[in-house]
Amino acid sequence: MAAFDSDRPEVVERAHRASVALVNSGVDLESNVATKALLTYKNVFASYGLSPVYYKQASEVIRFIRQNVGSACAIGEVGLDFYHVKQASERTRQENTLFQFIRLSKELGLALILHTRDAEERVFELAHNVDTAVYHCYGGSVELAKKIVDCGHYVSISTRVCRSAQHKELLKVLPREHVVIETDSPFLSCHKGRNEPIFVEDALRVVSRVWEEELEDTASMLVNNTKNALNLV
Ligand SMILES: [Zn+2]
Repeated sequence: MAAFDSDRPEVVERAHRASVALVNSGVDLESNVATKALLTYKNVFASYGLSPVYYKQASEVIRFIRQNVGSACAIGEVGLDFYHVKQASERTRQENTLFQFIRLSKELGLALILHTRDAEERVFELAHNVDTAVYHCYGGSVELAKKIVDCGHYVSISTRVCRSAQHKELLKVLPREHVVIETDSPFLSCHKGRNEPIFVEDALRVVSRVWEEELEDTASMLVNNTKNALNLV
């Protein structure tokens, strides 16, 4: 992400000092290559994917994932984006691309990190039978979130939770073992300006308040959930 070009090592180091690990997700060929390069940092994990708005790059990105499967903890983010793409024919091409990634995740035994903007129900229809899926920056309904966790999948709550009653409601009703948190850096900051990995602590504080438990207990649960979801050691 260009937002970190001026101080990337400092951002990663700040997170490291606070015991925050990063899952960096590629969204096109170029950012997948950049994600792989971040693996020189001990607290970074790589997920290779393709934003649905760039579906035309699918074959190159699939080739990249096959060649770099050993360094990936997941495939993603991939999914559907009906917010940015309105045309029916383009949406169909996004769906066909998502199918390819669903097949690839089954073949390679990797979890899927799913982007579902204004398309949560449709992504669920297509991806409900994968082994492991994480619905990143989940913004859908409580009812659908319950179906997602019933499939054994994970709902990822972003730092938007700081200001969102709907996300706090999700935290109240979902089984805690199926919740993970994220920043979606550089987006969705609780503060003015850029989000960065260490600000995941803003979401952590809200979760521990809603769950009415000690911060350390919430943190260790969420870390464990993330490790289970992405098969991290
Ligand atoms: Zn996304």
